Amino acid sequence: MTTFPSELLPPMTSASQLQTWASCGRKYMAKYVLHLTPEYRSTALVVGSVVHSVLGFHYDERKDGRTVSRELLQRITQADLAAEIAESNLRWKDETPESLEAEVTRLVSLYLDAHENDDVTETEVLFEIALEDPETGEVRGRSLKGYFDFILSDERVVELKTAARAWHPDDLTRHIQVGAYAYAHMTKVGGMSDLDVRVLVKTKTPRIDSFHVARGEPATRWFITAAWAIEEAILSGIFPPSPSPMCGACEYRKACASLDWSTVLEQPPEQSSVRRALPMLAESDHHVLA
Ligand code: SF4
Repeated sequence: MTTFPSELLPPMTSASQLQTWASCGRKYMAKYVLHLTPEYRSTALVVGSVVHSVLGFHYDERKDGRTVSRELLQRITQADLAAEIAESNLRWKDETPESLEAEVTRLVSLYLDAHENDDVTETEVLFEIALEDPETGEVRGRSLKGYFDFILSDERVVELKTAARAWHPDDLTRHIQVGAYAYAHMTKVGGMSDLDVRVLVKTKTPRIDSFHVARGEPATRWFITAAWAIEEAILSGIFPPSPSPMCGACEYRKACASLDWSTVLEQPPEQSSVRRALPMLAESDHHVLA
C-alpha cells in the first residue's frame, strides 16, 4: 500500500471527512488536503449552523439556571445570521436574508415547542476514539473525532439535523454520520448506543422526524468496515473524481475543472492560490460538450 504523506492530512478523521470522501475523492482532496477556499457556501449550511448555535445557546443558558425568552433567541438568530452572511460567500437562490431569518426562527420554534424542557446536561461534547473493531480489538486508520450535539441527563445523545427532504428509516442503515455517532456513543457507554436523531425537515410545513438508533456490536460493524476502507484509500492518497449530477452544486466545481490535478501537490501549500491551472472552460463552451 502506498502511504500518502501524513503531514498533508488532518491528524484525525471525522464523519464529515469520511462522508466527503465517499461522495467524491477529489472534493476531499480540495477541502482537506489542499485547503482550497470553497467557491461558495450554501444557504442550507448557514441555516443548519445557526439553528444549532441558537439551540445550543438555549440549552447552555437553561443548564446554568437562566430562562431564555423567545425574543432573545430571535435577536441571537439575527446576530448569528448577520455574521454568517458577512463572512461567507453565500450562493443565493430565491432566498433573502429576511427569508433565511424567518426559516431559522420557524425551525427553532418548532424544535423548542417539542423539546424546550429537555434535560440537556452538555452541548457540543467532543469525542475522540480509535476506529477499533469491538470484537477483535483491531485498530485501523486515524482516530475518529466529532462532537455530540446534546447529551441528556439519562446519557442519551441527541443529534440534530436539518434537511430539505424527509429521511426514510432505511436511510439510516448505511448512513456514515449516523453510523459514526452510534459507534462513538456505543464505545463511550460500553453497550448499546442510545442515540436520538432528530431531523428538522424544511418542507413547506416544517416538521421534526425522530429516529432512535440503538446499536451494539455487530450492528456497528458496517460502519467500522466502511470507515476502514475509506481511511485506507485516504491514507494511500487515492482521491478520484466522482462526476455526477451533484457536481452542479459542488463548492469546488471551478477548481475541479481548471486545476491540473496530476501536478497539484508538487507546489508548496503556500502557493495554493497559484497552483498550476488548466485553461478554464468558459460557460459558453459548455454546450459544445453537451
Ligand atoms: S465537481 Fe464533481 S467531480 Fe469535481 S470535485 Fe466536485 S463533486 Fe467531485
